[in-house]
Amino acid sequence: MDRTFLIKPVLDADYPLIDYGKGVYLYDAEGKEYLDASSGAITANIGHGVQEIIDAMQEQAKKVSFVYRSQFTSEPAEKLARKIANLSLPNLNWCFFVNSGSEATETAMKIAIQYWQEKGVFTKTKVLSRWMSYHGITMGALSMSGHTGRRARFIPLLEDFPVIQPPYCYRCPYNKEAPECGYLCAHELETIIKRIGADHIAAFIAEPVIGAAGAAITPPKDYYKVIKEICERHNILFIADEVMTGFGRTGTMLACEQWDIEPDIVTLGKGMGAGYTPIAATLVGDHVMEPVLKGSKTIMGGHTLSANPQACAVSLAVIEYLEKNKIIPEVEKKGAFLMNELLELQKQYPFIGDVRGRGLMIGLEFVQNPADKIPFPRDYQVTERLISLAQMNGLLLYPAGAGSDGVSGDAVMIAPPLTISNKEMEELIKRLKETLQQFFEQYINISKG
Ligand code: PMP
Repeated sequence: MDRTFLIKPVLDADYPLIDYGKGVYLYDAEGKEYLDASSGAITANIGHGVQEIIDAMQEQAKKVSFVYRSQFTSEPAEKLARKIANLSLPNLNWCFFVNSGSEATETAMKIAIQYWQEKGVFTKTKVLSRWMSYHGITMGALSMSGHTGRRARFIPLLEDFPVIQPPYCYRCPYNKEAPECGYLCAHELETIIKRIGADHIAAFIAEPVIGAAGAAITPPKDYYKVIKEICERHNILFIADEVMTGFGRTGTMLACEQWDIEPDIVTLGKGMGAGYTPIAATLVGDHVMEPVLKGSKTIMGGHTLSANPQACAVSLAVIEYLEKNKIIPEVEKKGAFLMNELLELQKQYPFIGDVRGRGLMIGLEFVQNPADKIPFPRDYQVTERLISLAQMNGLLLYPAGAGSDGVSGDAVMIAPPLTISNKEMEELIKRLKETLQQFFEQYINISKG
């Protein structure tokens, strides 16, 4: 084949060339069908090729695709901000549009710092976070990310913001169980705040359910109440990174609703454009905007394509589609179905050490044997093998976890479009079972050799 001019994630790998997508399926140029059980990167929340979204794109393109936010506002941008403010928690009434999840968390970090400056406090500049977290690839976002693999090359340029352990109950660092543990991992935050000094800390950021760095690590019931209480007591803003969990992925518009907490700032991305357009947002509470409105009256941030009408019109159409087809209220039931099927598979394949998650964001972690939870040696490349076997079987899974903290093991996430039908979920399980069986047979050979 001719050389490629495109920098792809693995330069010498062969990527199938995708021709088109329909619903939960993608088809490559050779006609092979893939069941998209990862919604790409947990993004294609309403599936592929939805006519209503294509129509909305065309309609807006006929009017105007781009206006610059420093010169104009537009109807799609105004409507989208109003819609998201109405759909999210009562206090989150301000919306800043950007183009990717990384920009959304980077913006959240800057707004948190600016909030304190507007109040006359100039020392609060750190945004603490957890290990086994991912908030994006730009330098500010990566500084907040506890993802050892993605940080490694840039360590000298990054801030050391990840400070506390994740609520990783499967491998509890304290060897305890919730709620008897008293949420020791959340209380670590207070110890760290005392060491660093609250005067230096603008905010704490967390993904309600940990995605890329931990494969759907889901905290126990009162975990976020403890975190939020500590933040409030020490005058530290709480940022919920809902780039992956937002827009119904876990069964509610925002995942934090399920832990009954109201963040000061929330980031959204992925499902917001559902893969039809690059768009993301930083939602800001009224009380956070208040000193800015009284003070400089401008948020120091933004990108050329922020709030462009084309992307906003597409995102509005995605939300209308979710609402019209009552998709989010069905997520919990669908998730419970998949979770049960996966727990059945775990009984047959004990190398599935843990099945966890919320709604349609489910993680599988793999271990050498379930009793001692010892991860597979990294050079067995278990995640990579499973992903590529699944792909051969026409099933797309999301690699998450392996090596992200340098300690835990291999893991994948299953997060199909929220529109998946029962029949398609059965097909997903069938293809997964084939994959696990093939892996099991291969593994016996690897471990002997
Ligand atoms: N935050 C979270 C929770 C994410 O999962 C991701 C992407 N995996 C990001 C931020 C970064 O988003 P993007 O890749 O769109 O920049």
